Amino acid sequence: MSAPHIVIVGAGHAGGTAAALLRQYGYGGPISLVGEEPIPPYQRPPLSKAWLKGEADAGSLALKPLAFYAENGIDFRPSLRATSLNRGEKTVALSDGSAVSYDTLILATGARAIALPIEGKDLAGILFLRTAADAEALKATVGPGKTLAVVGGGYIGLEVAASGRALGAEVVVLEREARILARVACKALSDFFTGYHEKHGVTFELGCSVVGFEGRDGHVSGVKLADGRVIACDAVVVGVGAHPNDELARDAGLECARGVVVDLDARSVSDPNVFAIGDVAHRPMPIYDRMFRMESVPNALEQAKQAASAVTGRPRPLGECPWQWSDQYDLKLQIAGYAFDVDEILIRGDPATARFAVFHLKGDQVQSVEAINAPPEFMMGKMLILNRKPVNKAKLADTCVSMKEVTA
Ligand code: FAD
Repeated sequence: MSAPHIVIVGAGHAGGTAAALLRQYGYGGPISLVGEEPIPPYQRPPLSKAWLKGEADAGSLALKPLAFYAENGIDFRPSLRATSLNRGEKTVALSDGSAVSYDTLILATGARAIALPIEGKDLAGILFLRTAADAEALKATVGPGKTLAVVGGGYIGLEVAASGRALGAEVVVLEREARILARVACKALSDFFTGYHEKHGVTFELGCSVVGFEGRDGHVSGVKLADGRVIACDAVVVGVGAHPNDELARDAGLECARGVVVDLDARSVSDPNVFAIGDVAHRPMPIYDRMFRMESVPNALEQAKQAASAVTGRPRPLGECPWQWSDQYDLKLQIAGYAFDVDEILIRGDPATARFAVFHLKGDQVQSVEAINAPPEFMMGKMLILNRKPVNKAKLADTCVSMKEVTA
């Protein structure tokens, strides 16, 4: 009998990593990696940071050189979209009219940027930032003498704002909520980032509703706000969140909840032959006793590991503490955990020094930490979250007490 065929749909961070891990874990059977983008799996974080600012070349984005896939017997099939999944026949239909049969299917289709369904949305110069191609278009637009309007004050929007300033553009951030990062960070952190960006010349319109785009000769020239004002600009980046690419799974009857519902092995709860990993998965997170979807590189890597381990019969990876990061100017923000059910926020250090950490506590347990230029607070905070160890709050708030001592 021939070895089972593993088909991975989506050649991004999670899919590319899963393919490489399967080989690393000794899987010798056929692996196909199908991706709709024309290039091999690459890292997205630099697209809004170093790469956008011209500090990293395109080659440095790739997870592995193209030759890696052939050398490791991975049938990498770029520029092909999976259009439907037939679970009964165990086949995936592809955009070139062919179909591929699988024994095990790994869905790694990621997420896509959410568009605004408003007047003028199709004008040239209205951009998103999800792919290397998107980033090329943005880089070609931003520069001295240009004004960039960023719709959405989340992490990606703010990174684009910082990179835009580094490239010499005027930048205005338009945010619907009363503060930036409202969905993902506490007020102290929002205030800190607002002040830091303003110091670097970014202007903010907060609590404003974008209702349309104005254009000249088919190209965007302004953003219309609900209060009647028009913010003049040469380009717009819409960064209002992402939606999981879970339609293949939904249409095939797999349980989805804004993402494909999976278990601790990243296996679909509806079909033992299908896994879902990365941004497209709605997954359990035991340390919070919850299910949710995450959009981060560490999550993509962790779930690739879970699926590759399950497929090759290795033990399940140890429990993890979710984390992510954001780089803006000379700031390195590292975030561990999620601020669920928090009843107290404790700030260690002085935000005025741009080196501090915000701890989110539930009783005497750390639920999450946001550390700015503060690696020990991040590392030790992550450990406290994972171990669910009670913390002495007085010591935690006192920067004269080292983080090592706090966690002892
Ligand atoms: P992706 O990397 O998006 O890959 C999914 C792939 O599947 C894509 O290539 C897509 O084209 C393909 N695909 C979709 N549907 C189909 C189909 N039907 N058929 C074939 N192929 C398909 N995370 C951090 O932790 N830190 C950061 O600083 C950070 N910065 C970011 C900056 C930007 C600009 C972006 C966009 C993301 C950033 N992220 C960051 C998030 C991180 O990059 C994602 O969480 C990660 O890429 C998820 O990996 P994935 O494989 O699930 O999805």
